[in-house]
Amino acid sequence: MPRGIYSHALTCININKKARPMEILVTMHDHHPHDHEEASLSLRVKALEQVLVAKGLVDPDALDAFIQLFENKIGPRNGAAVVAKAWTDPAFKARLLENGPSAIAELGYGGLQGENLVVLENTPQTHNVIVCTLCSCYPWPVLGLPPRWYKSAPYRSSVVKEPRKVLAEFGTDLAADVKIRVWDSSAEIRYMVLPERPANTDGLSETDLAALVTRDGMIGVAKL
Ligand code: FE
Repeated sequence: MPRGIYSHALTCININKKARPMEILVTMHDHHPHDHEEASLSLRVKALEQVLVAKGLVDPDALDAFIQLFENKIGPRNGAAVVAKAWTDPAFKARLLENGPSAIAELGYGGLQGENLVVLENTPQTHNVIVCTLCSCYPWPVLGLPPRWYKSAPYRSSVVKEPRKVLAEFGTDLAADVKIRVWDSSAEIRYMVLPERPANTDGLSETDLAALVTRDGMIGVAKL
């Protein structure tokens, strides 16, 4: 497939890796008659994929590998670079918190689903976590493709009602006096968490710091 078309498809289509091949989920990011839209699009994409695979134009294993790469490796590394820069450059951090898309563009990242990005700073007093209660809105330019659980109904509903309990299920136990703020993403605004810099990292380079930043830390379900 021509590269331009492939990258365009990636930015427009949100593919659920583990759901393949029967349930590829496509999410058009308007928060409107969403579930309906998703069901219809899901069927259309499923049909399209089956045709492409049947004709030998798409290798399902290669597609799996590609999605895995964008879910776990390439995508979140952009966000990690942003976080490491913010930890080491106070002026950049101030710009990042003031205007996320503009500061992130300084590092060369941007594009669809990141146009109205708000960066939320975790502090010892306040822990932020993001969700999309209606579907799967996610800051693609900095985090790549959303993980499957982010799109699941249990996460979307329970993190709003019982955030402390959900975080504990992720292994993140917060002290009782830490305030948890849950941010509901939408077509208009996407969020990314700026995690607290881990202790004892004073001597580390920006590159080494970036290696400490995890996708889950930038969603807010983990601490670093
Ligand atoms: Fe959404």
